[in-house]
Parts: sequence; structure tokens; C-alpha cells
Amino acid sequence: MPTRFRNLAGYVRSKKLDNQARETPRQFVERESHYLWGRRYLLTVKYRDAKPFVLLDHKRITLTMRPGSDVEKRAEVMHEWHKSLLHDVVPPLIAKWERKLKVKVTSYFLQRMKTKWESCNHSAGHIRLNTELVKKPKDLLEYVIVHEMVHLIEPTHSDRFIAILEKHYPSWREARAELNELPLAAEAWKK
Ligand SMILES: [Zn+2]
Repeated sequence: MPTRFRNLAGYVRSKKLDNQARETPRQFVERESHYLWGRRYLLTVKYRDAKPFVLLDHKRITLTMRPGSDVEKRAEVMHEWHKSLLHDVVPPLIAKWERKLKVKVTSYFLQRMKTKWESCNHSAGHIRLNTELVKKPKDLLEYVIVHEMVHLIEPTHSDRFIAILEKHYPSWREARAELNELPLAAEAWKK
């Protein structure tokens, strides 16, 4: 894992989105590594004739599947698990920042997105978060949420937007650089 404050030089900003390291496709097989909240875990896959489930301990993610489940099915069970982890963490973060920013988020959506960490519909008060964020340290998820919620005040990346972000989340540049440098695509913000 890159250290928290590597790469502050700013060249990250000028890199093309396509050049960024992408995660190699996962097969969801024994001993494959999977990230969760910025930490690497080894995957264990077990087969049992029961409803599939995922268990986490300090070193491992154990995926229990029905016999004969293929890679798509395994990916889907992991994806649902990722969503449930995010649903535990996102609402309290939104509530915290609703108080600080004095805005209201009508609803949020979790979705797998290939090229963006988030997107929002300012007029409706919706925010959409990439489920891949579950693989990043939690403070980066928080940054993405704050970024989107500031958009509810200021839709574009204007000077006003940056001033609000600067006031409430002074380390936004580091957070953005880290999001852009870790495997798995980029935030679609080129300013
Ligand atoms: Zn933005």
C-alpha cells in the first residue's frame, strides 16, 4: 500500500485517467488478495449447499458458496457484501456532514462505476457512490461523500466550491491524490 502522503507533488492531477493503474480482474478463488477499507486480505472459498455468505476475520475473507457456483455468482455475492458494508458506514457519515454543511441528502445510491468515484444530482439531492470505495481507507470514502455534498451547495468545481471544501475538509488535495493513485480508476475531476 502506498503511504498516506506519498505523491503530493501534483503530477497526479495531470495524469490521464486511462494511464492509471487498474486492478486486474478478480476470479474470486482461493488465496486471491482482496482489499477492504485499505487493507489486503486473502480470500478463502468454501462450497456448501446453503445460502451463500461472506465472513471476515483479521486476515481472511471467507466466501461460502453453493457447489458449482461460477465466477459471476461469486463476484455477485461479494458485491452484495460490499454494499452491505457500505450501507453500515455511509448513513452516519452523511448525517455528520449534513450537520456540518447544512445540506440535506434526499437519498444515496451505491453502484459499481468504472470511471468515477461518485456522481450527484444536485437539484434532487441524490448522491451516487461507487461500491469500489469499500476497498479504500474509510477516510477516502468520507472525502468522496463530503465532495458530493459540497456539490449540493455548489454544483461546479468553482472557486467557491474549493473554498467550501478547503474550510471543511482541508486535506482534500491529499485525499484526491490518493484516490487517483491507488489501483482502480480515478475520480473524474480534472481541475
Ligand atoms: Zn465534483
